[in-house]
Amino acid sequence: MIQKARIFCLIALHILILLHIFYWGDNVVGSVDFQEFFHSFVKYGIINAGVILVIVAFITTLIFGRFFCGWGCHFGAIQELAWFILKKMNIQPKTIDSKLVTFLPLLILIHLYILPNLFFATETNWHISVNLKDPSIWAFLPGAIIGTLTFIVDGFLIVYFLGKKGFCRFICPWGAFLKLPNSLALFKVRKTGECTHCHVCTDSCPIGIDVNYEINKYTKVTSTNCTSCMLCISGCPSTALSYSYQNPLKEDVSLSYYLPTKNKFKNMMHKYTNYDSIRIYDWIYLILIFVFANTIDGMYGIGHFLAYGIAITAAFIIINNKIATVAIKYALTSLILLFFIWHGFIKINIYLGNQYADANNPNLLQRTIQVYAQKMGKY
Ligand code: SF4
Ligand code: SF4
Ligand code: SF4
Repeated sequence: MIQKARIFCLIALHILILLHIFYWGDNVVGSVDFQEFFHSFVKYGIINAGVILVIVAFITTLIFGRFFCGWGCHFGAIQELAWFILKKMNIQPKTIDSKLVTFLPLLILIHLYILPNLFFATETNWHISVNLKDPSIWAFLPGAIIGTLTFIVDGFLIVYFLGKKGFCRFICPWGAFLKLPNSLALFKVRKTGECTHCHVCTDSCPIGIDVNYEINKYTKVTSTNCTSCMLCISGCPSTALSYSYQNPLKEDVSLSYYLPTKNKFKNMMHKYTNYDSIRIYDWIYLILIFVFANTIDGMYGIGHFLAYGIAITAAFIIINNKIATVAIKYALTSLILLFFIWHGFIKINIYLGNQYADANNPNLLQRTIQVYAQKMGKY
């Protein structure tokens, strides 16, 4: 019943989005996008529909947990759909454990959304104003090709390579933003009955939390990745779980809820075959992902999410490449490296081109135009 309500909620929300785009347009309310909080409020002090959405999401997360993610996010829903389709096709990707799950989304949030907008705000006349119509619905949305690619890479490919909700766990900065209120949430999944350790709850969790381990060790789900989807509760055959309130003064909150804890995943990897760990390569992954993403971010209209989705998938193919034939393995790795080296070269030229143009030396800009004849920044 509860899952029917969740699916209904997700469908209704998508209908609302379509109505907003095609029926109401920008007449009353403009873009209702999470990133508005950073691009509009942190940067200029503007309160718009996106900012209100983030405030509502933050407050409701403090009370009910990450309902926004489990019950309202189209990207979360798409990844659940991808997992469902792969399962139907008898494909069981491994859900990947890594410390990057904790640090990468936070790094993306700080590097791309908080710091640049904060710096801008400190250098301008920052003041609070209200404008619900601005920016327009399409202001931050990519075109049809990049949009479709983003859905394919971040919604499906990443689930195939990194397992359950790979995008939410490894990339999404909004998820990182909601982790703090989520750990303080008044309502949580708690152990309120006898558990038979059947692991059905762990198996059914769409974001790869070892529910069985957490509820038996802490009497509640402590992972800040929990999206309050209730799948573990509705699947439990012993009714050992419930979604219940605890007086915040009696609640124990620990720093370990935010940090990557080895035990939880070690435990899962012993019991299940479809979990894997890349922790020993975390640093190599981090460097590759960061470099790869920055070489293509902004090129051809590629947005941050797609850039990081491609980068993480490419890094995974290079390092965790299980292709049996050595020749194909090296050919694929070489192709991927060539692709990013070439784009890194273009990126450097774009940077130099902008510098030359600023210095009123259009002749030197020529080199950039030869490798990348596109609109660049303000030019
Ligand atoms: S973590 Fe991000 S993508 Fe995933 S459900 Fe939450 S907001 Fe959506
Ligand atoms: S722990 Fe339970 S409520 Fe939380 S995401 Fe997993 S299945 Fe959903
Ligand atoms: S599904 Fe219920 S009984 Fe089974 S391990 Fe989870 S909490 Fe325990």
